[in-house]
Amino acid sequence: MLYDLNSFLRQASPVLQQRLQWLIQTANTHNCACYLVGGCVRDWLLERPVGDIDVVVEGDAIALAKVWAAVWPDQLHTHPPFGTATLSWQDSSLDLISARSEYYPQPAALPVVSFANLAADLARRDFTINCLALRLINQPTELIDPQHGYADLQHGLIRVLHDLSFINDPTRILRAIRFAARLNFELEPQTAILLQHALPWLDQTTPARLWNELGLLLTEPSALVALSLADSWGVLNQLFGSGGWSASLNQQAQTLLANQSDQQLAIVWLLLMSQLAPSAAQTQTQRFSLPKPIRLMVEQWPQLVAFEATLSQTTLSAGQLDRLLSPFEPLLLEVWASNQATSIQHQIKYYLQYLRPIASILTGRDLQAQGIPAGPNYKTLLAEARERQLDQFEQANPNLC
Ligand code: ATP
Ligand code: MG
Repeated sequence: MLYDLNSFLRQASPVLQQRLQWLIQTANTHNCACYLVGGCVRDWLLERPVGDIDVVVEGDAIALAKVWAAVWPDQLHTHPPFGTATLSWQDSSLDLISARSEYYPQPAALPVVSFANLAADLARRDFTINCLALRLINQPTELIDPQHGYADLQHGLIRVLHDLSFINDPTRILRAIRFAARLNFELEPQTAILLQHALPWLDQTTPARLWNELGLLLTEPSALVALSLADSWGVLNQLFGSGGWSASLNQQAQTLLANQSDQQLAIVWLLLMSQLAPSAAQTQTQRFSLPKPIRLMVEQWPQLVAFEATLSQTTLSAGQLDRLLSPFEPLLLEVWASNQATSIQHQIKYYLQYLRPIASILTGRDLQAQGIPAGPNYKTLLAEARERQLDQFEQANPNLC
């Protein structure tokens, strides 16, 4: 089928349109074949918003990128071993990629690359729906579709290109989940079987490479669907040794995310880790180098669990509640509470909403002014004073708790 590139250009921002027009002219003038490939073609055909743009160049992409950077005031980053260059401007970017082929000397290891033509470049890709290409040319252009990805797009199928695909690169397992969840697609039956056979190879893949994909999966808008798929396909069990993503966990996540969508990674990670033994949760959190605030919350989780019995008593005063809960991150309290008895949820809400925001009246400076020598007893004195203050607050506001 022939496509008019102008309709691709029309959906792009004016800045990107200018650059792509220039690229079409420059490629034509220098007789250098350039192609839109991968996600941008897939998403455009699906009439979804087009994200980052990848352009494969049959030739030296870095040389072309340098010409680009001399014309446009964009930032240029090159990656010579792979012959790729990224051009960035304002809030957008475009990758220029020298067409390459890849060969996997060992399963789950990084590939050896060599420069090649578009056909070889498309043959190294993950799924049929991601090996579609459109030549950037000044006239209607044919959809290049060697793997029948267009048919799979229409049928909503994720299909690998060959039987060793997941074993060569097990991160494709996570990519398959991500695309299935995002696009509401299914695995083509043979691909589903191959994915199951390749699961053990996830253990041979470095945490950094796994996280490149896992991190994306957990931060996409469709992360909860992805987690349910990952659970039912045995991927969570393979990655974390146990645990999972039950319907009730999913419900908890939905409720928490409704109010705090900006904390998605922390929320889903804490819920995932809540299914593991504390030491396993900490090991996994370190293995994937989660950001420090999330690491701290995972470390605090067992201490909070240990307070469950104490919190079940509704006899705690406001001061006692504050003293017990103040060491914990508010988000951790909310995530943990989301699966607790109503009485505990109620106390945590009361603490977070009313007690935690109250500033202590007595400060270290006041103690100094009273001539009390500075020392470890300051901490005790200030804590006792705060406890009294909050108890008084509770007596004055009995209807809040
Ligand atoms: P997204 O919309 O999430 O960016 P995308 O398809 O553009 O989706 P990218 O991760 O940006 O995905 O990768 C760009 C292209 O590179 C993909 O479309 C795919 O063809 C190829 N690709 C990326 N990762 C792999 C991989 N692990 N194995 C094979 N091909 C890959
Ligand atoms: Mg992309």
